[in-house]
Amino acid sequence: MYSFVDAFRDGKTAEKVVQYIKQASGDRRFRIVHICGTHEDAIMKNGIRNMLPRNVEVLMGPGCPVCTVPPNRIDYTIKLAEQGAIVTTFGDMMRVPAGLGSLADAKARGHDIRMVYSIHDAVKIAQENPDREVVHFAVGFETTAPTTASEILAGPPENFSVYSAHLLIPPAMEALLEMGVSQIDGFIDPGHVSTIIGEVGYQAVHDKYPVPQVIAGFEPLDILFSIALIIKQKNEGRAEIENTYQRAVKPEGLPQALAMMDKVFQPEAAPWRGIGTIPESGLQLRPEYEQYDASKKFDILVESDYSMPPGCKCGEVLRAMIYPWNCPLFNKTCNPDNPVGPCMVSHEGSCYIAARYGVEEL
Ligand code: SF4
Repeated sequence: MYSFVDAFRDGKTAEKVVQYIKQASGDRRFRIVHICGTHEDAIMKNGIRNMLPRNVEVLMGPGCPVCTVPPNRIDYTIKLAEQGAIVTTFGDMMRVPAGLGSLADAKARGHDIRMVYSIHDAVKIAQENPDREVVHFAVGFETTAPTTASEILAGPPENFSVYSAHLLIPPAMEALLEMGVSQIDGFIDPGHVSTIIGEVGYQAVHDKYPVPQVIAGFEPLDILFSIALIIKQKNEGRAEIENTYQRAVKPEGLPQALAMMDKVFQPEAAPWRGIGTIPESGLQLRPEYEQYDASKKFDILVESDYSMPPGCKCGEVLRAMIYPWNCPLFNKTCNPDNPVGPCMVSHEGSCYIAARYGVEEL
């Protein structure tokens, strides 16, 4: 039976779009950046790079919410666990390396670090353990920040707090453009984040750096259309925010989610692994909610240091300068069973995704 989704997987339409991309790109080089692990998964799963002419490149930037968390934040939560707190976080965060090892290493040393599927589960753990402090290590972009805000607004127990490592995507896009370390002809804007922030969420980046942006869904034709539209905009001398994912993304986003985030959080300068500190790119709990802010509640000094392992090119991968397979360690000493760098740990890391599906011949 032909379903609604099949319309976005139609081979004949894909051939036509690819033909358009080939004609419209000519022999000019186009470098398009996306910032989303799910987009990278769809690109690799559907062999999209192999459909494109060699002069049209699509690279992933800092779209992995786990790979981008800086090591000192992980060390902070390990220290909390060492002091007797129950630390909860999402599964992908457990194996990411930091100065004191990973959270999984700390758990193996006997500390109480628990994997949860949602912050709500962490609140339940706090309710069930009223004599223990429970700290939820909150990571993720605009997609997960509203759920953190919602739990704080619901009034969790006193022994619950959040250590916020939430990061925001538009400031990271702006940072990539500002750094100018590689040519960026356009952005494929992340589908999930866009459902929350809408088209308007990208306006500030666009005003400062007018490059084409196209919001895209996760089916093969969503992605191919977005590439075609970016090339079309460039050829016509336009730089606009277009939305090819209107079935999920409204121009204004989700106002209720944005209002909750705004009520609970305020933006702050935040460090990103492999990139550095980006102004207004992190979310800190507002003073009204500081009883739930682990960074205020506990006096923890993080002295440990961490630098990328020798040979690891995660910084360049996260800045969309290279593909994972350009790293000399890729699929050799670094692989999903033995990840060397953070981009090989998470299911949303581009190195992990490339290793999982196999390198495309480019
Ligand atoms: Fe780092 Fe491994 Fe990716 Fe190389 S393949 S950049 S070592 S995570």
